[in-house]
Amino acid sequence: MFEQALPLLESYFGYHSFRNGQEQAIRSVLAGKNTICVMPTGGGKSICYQIPALILPGTTIVISPLISLMKDQVDALLQIGISATFINSSLRFNEANERMYEAKKGTYKLLYIAPERLESPDFIKDLKSMNIPLVAVDEAHCISQWGHDFRPSYRHIQQMIDHMPQRPKVLALTATATPLVREDICRQLDIDERNTVITGFERENLSFSVIKGQDRLKFLFEYLKKNENEAGIIYAATRKNVDLLYERLRKEHINAAKYHAGMGDVERAREQERFLEDKASVMVATSAFGMGIDKSNIRYVIHFQLPKNMESYYQEAGRAGRDGLASECILLYSPQDVQIQRFLIDQASDRSRKSAELEKLQQMVDYCHTENCLQEFIVSYFGEAETKPCGRCGNCTDNRGKIEVTREAQMVLSCVVRMGQRFGKNITAQVLTGSKNKKVTDMGFHKLPTYGIMQNKGAKEVGDFIEFLIAQEIIGIEHGQFPTLFVTPKGKDVLLGKEQVFRRETVQVKQVSKNDPLFETLREVRKRIADRENVPPFVIFSDAALKDMCAKIPKTSEEFLQVSGVGEHKLQKYGQEFIQEIRAFCEEHPDYKSELEADSEPLKKPAKKTVGESHLETLKLYQSGLSIAEIAKEQGLAISTVETHLLQCAQQSLEADFTRLIPDEYIPLLENAVAEAGRERLKPIKELLPEEVSYFMIKLYVYHLSKTAR
Ligand code: ADP
Ligand code: ZN
Repeated sequence: MFEQALPLLESYFGYHSFRNGQEQAIRSVLAGKNTICVMPTGGGKSICYQIPALILPGTTIVISPLISLMKDQVDALLQIGISATFINSSLRFNEANERMYEAKKGTYKLLYIAPERLESPDFIKDLKSMNIPLVAVDEAHCISQWGHDFRPSYRHIQQMIDHMPQRPKVLALTATATPLVREDICRQLDIDERNTVITGFERENLSFSVIKGQDRLKFLFEYLKKNENEAGIIYAATRKNVDLLYERLRKEHINAAKYHAGMGDVERAREQERFLEDKASVMVATSAFGMGIDKSNIRYVIHFQLPKNMESYYQEAGRAGRDGLASECILLYSPQDVQIQRFLIDQASDRSRKSAELEKLQQMVDYCHTENCLQEFIVSYFGEAETKPCGRCGNCTDNRGKIEVTREAQMVLSCVVRMGQRFGKNITAQVLTGSKNKKVTDMGFHKLPTYGIMQNKGAKEVGDFIEFLIAQEIIGIEHGQFPTLFVTPKGKDVLLGKEQVFRRETVQVKQVSKNDPLFETLREVRKRIADRENVPPFVIFSDAALKDMCAKIPKTSEEFLQVSGVGEHKLQKYGQEFIQEIRAFCEEHPDYKSELEADSEPLKKPAKKTVGESHLETLKLYQSGLSIAEIAKEQGLAISTVETHLLQCAQQSLEADFTRLIPDEYIPLLENAVAEAGRERLKPIKELLPEEVSYFMIKLYVYHLSKTAR
């Protein structure tokens, strides 16, 4: 039976190969074994039951806890020409009856139901008269009390299966890996643990980072500005924080939506829809948002505040990049948030769970402080034994310089001590910078020896520095009526000169994906179609499919079918509309080259001559010892332009040592990669190297080689 699987994947879904774990899961199900499939979010679990549903006679039942997810999944299936429907509490009585009537006639290949349905004896009777070969249990961890989202109605699933005359097979799917939960699922759904399909938990398209000791709002606004075309989620810890952040974003004219449990149902649904339909690019929410959100083109997830444990964090952050494209997960850390989470745990948990939850919170805090690979920290937290650094995360790619700031730290600490450790950040910063503020003089602080010792800096800058010291746990915060600063034991060592303090340069905000004019055009076409068909845009095509169109530039139906994510049905429905736009675009932009291709330009082509000799100016600055960023600033150029200049110089064999631009540890990697892939094209070389070795470095290295070979 399995021979049919790949052709179906191609013709319906438009994908050319199975992902890790999918084939194994499908084979197991088709061999008639009850199976559990554990894959991270975005791993491609749905295909594991959708393909068997197409192959097996009858109707596959999918149990899913989430109403919004069901609708999206069914929409997506209808889009590719597979008959499917759902039955849940969002339907009117008549509607549900009609669908059940059709279901009993065998109209659907897939029927999605909410678990609560299984509590109705009438519904079970209806199911009995159907031909059901397979029951797929999505979010299967909901069956277990050990999981993070226990749902009692999941307990009825096994009963239902026992009632069915032909005992359907079970496929349980989850992204939760803990062995305890897995065992529980297997026991309750009668799955032999040997039939476990489990893939690694690493998400290869996500890069994680933790930002500490920086102004969070400033970082956030810069980030949003730089990525304004992309969709993202910002998680905050409390409803109040969501409301506040939302207002701030609106003031900055950022098109945001919001979501938390304190809002009315109607408003919440409306906000969610605006986000799903790409009408608002940013969603500000508490952790109440996101379960069952299928939106695949989320490019970033920012945690404005610390989440309560690694499970929640990985689940929430994991909503980025379900389409497999590069995406970012950023956590903005501030030690005060640990207090908030402690408080929430205190309020919510019964006593028996409290210590376990505090323990989990501590691990979350450890994550924020590790200097090792963040992705590695996560997968080993989830029990993966063999791990290696990801090469993408904030820690793996950190090459910021360190500056010693021990003296400044001592100034702040002694000021805190002299003020009696009874005051907050702002007034301390004012004292240090010599503010004439009335409160400062009223308290007599202008007579302190530390008054004005940092007057060459602004109060805001000193405030940021205090935040940094808090993040380093050199200064602590006491939460009384007002938060007040005190010197921690570590801070005492700094004061006594026993410990030095280093500060890294601030993290620069990145753009998650480069601007590509064709991509923007196609995104608009997709939006137009989505509005017309009244479905979210990602149901029409994923961002990954649009990117592949940009790379392949299909101008005929055959070419369009080659695009990953284009099956026969979508070719029929949308092929012409997209092809026309692509053709028109190419006429208008004869020089267009997709962002992907531009990077892998063959080397043999002579470099384009830039007007004038500005690259020589760049060279001069470079030779005087400036970094690329400094040159860019000096000349008012983009960093990429400076890089192009330097490449030009390298290619023209102008005298300079360009290897200084490639970190030493990459040289042996480059050597190996070139030995394996040759020097003809860059892309194959790039693919053998860690993400952070840029095309720029590869080009430099290859030029360097060709020069020394001569
Ligand atoms: P999960 O349920 O595990 O979170 P999904 O089933 O929603 O993941 O799949 C995530 C994304 O990956 C979807 O956009 C899906 O279309 C895509 N996908 C699934 N399988 C493949 C495949 N074999 N090739 C390419 N893309 C795939
Ligand atoms: Zn890493």
